[in-house]
Amino acid sequence: MSEKLIIIGSGPAGLTAAIYTARANMNPLLFEGFQAGGIPGGQLMITNVVENFPGFPEGILGPDLMAKTREQAVKHGARMVMDDIIEADLHNRPFTIKTSGGETYTTEALIIASGATARRLPLESEQKLWGRGISACAVCDGALPAFRNKELAVIGGGDTAVEEALHLTQFASKVYLIHRRDELRASDVMQKRIKSHEKVEILWNKVIEEFCGEPKLSCLKLKDTKDGTISELPVAGAFEAIGHVPNIGFLNGQLETKEMGYLKTVPGSTKTNIEGVFAAGDVQDATFRQAITAAGSGCMAAIEAERWLNEQE
Ligand code: NAP
Repeated sequence: MSEKLIIIGSGPAGLTAAIYTARANMNPLLFEGFQAGGIPGGQLMITNVVENFPGFPEGILGPDLMAKTREQAVKHGARMVMDDIIEADLHNRPFTIKTSGGETYTTEALIIASGATARRLPLESEQKLWGRGISACAVCDGALPAFRNKELAVIGGGDTAVEEALHLTQFASKVYLIHRRDELRASDVMQKRIKSHEKVEILWNKVIEEFCGEPKLSCLKLKDTKDGTISELPVAGAFEAIGHVPNIGFLNGQLETKEMGYLKTVPGSTKTNIEGVFAAGDVQDATFRQAITAAGSGCMAAIEAERWLNEQE
């Protein structure tokens, strides 16, 4: 199956690229993958109300936003295939990609918008209460009524965890930062800020043994990593900030990456080190990781892919 443009990924970046390229009569084919065990639509599918996406003053549910964006892409002519890409050969043009369903496609240009997956704690109780008090994004969910004026926890010791904890201080009555060591990984300036914040208490050398509550999260069972003692901490919300992993396994190292394995693009552009391959959204963004920035870079990739294809002709 031979295509002009294939887009991999159905989050805000991929779908925005699809809207733009479909409207430019490029007949894009978009793969909606399952994010290694997840569901098509990207991380917004596991987000509750999105209050910071422009155009929705009342907020919009993450899955609804993705459904509408998908509808818009289809309306303009984007074709959708629900399958994971498991392999790509970018050595020669046209590029070849293979799906988990056993199909092979070739394409002149490729937009990679396969996103990133938030690392999650591998606990049964975490899966049970996910979305019911547990989230991986304080910026997305922290301002929800369920978390206002409540005691909340952030798990992790990096810049994201500190940033999320500081963000939550606007809404919470108190924020616990729970870290598995006695030293934060976050930058000095962020450490200073968090340590001096009156609403924040850092719980050192603690890991989550269990998330408890029914039907929603009401407490954390913590284990001390030094002496093994178990304690209980009542909280209304817990935010995991233990890192993200870009979804690039199918590329098998063919594209250049930057720090932490995110795809490297030319500054101010979505071009990768291989001509005709563009990267948009969280798969190339370790810094902002917002729906709106992903959508913006999806638009950039669409325009750059269109220009590049026109130049080839
Ligand atoms: P990160 O730096 O990889 O930090 C992840 C944190 O989670 C670490 O403190 C780690 O603990 C902890 N962790 C990992 N697995 C865990 C587990 N299973 N249980 C408990 N804790 C666990 O990730 P990040 O904070 O998302 O930052 C990613 C990158 O983006 C960094 O380079 C960061 O500087 C950058 N960033 C920058 C900004 C900013 O400049 N404003 C904001 C956000 C992110 P250990 O420390 O013990 O390994």
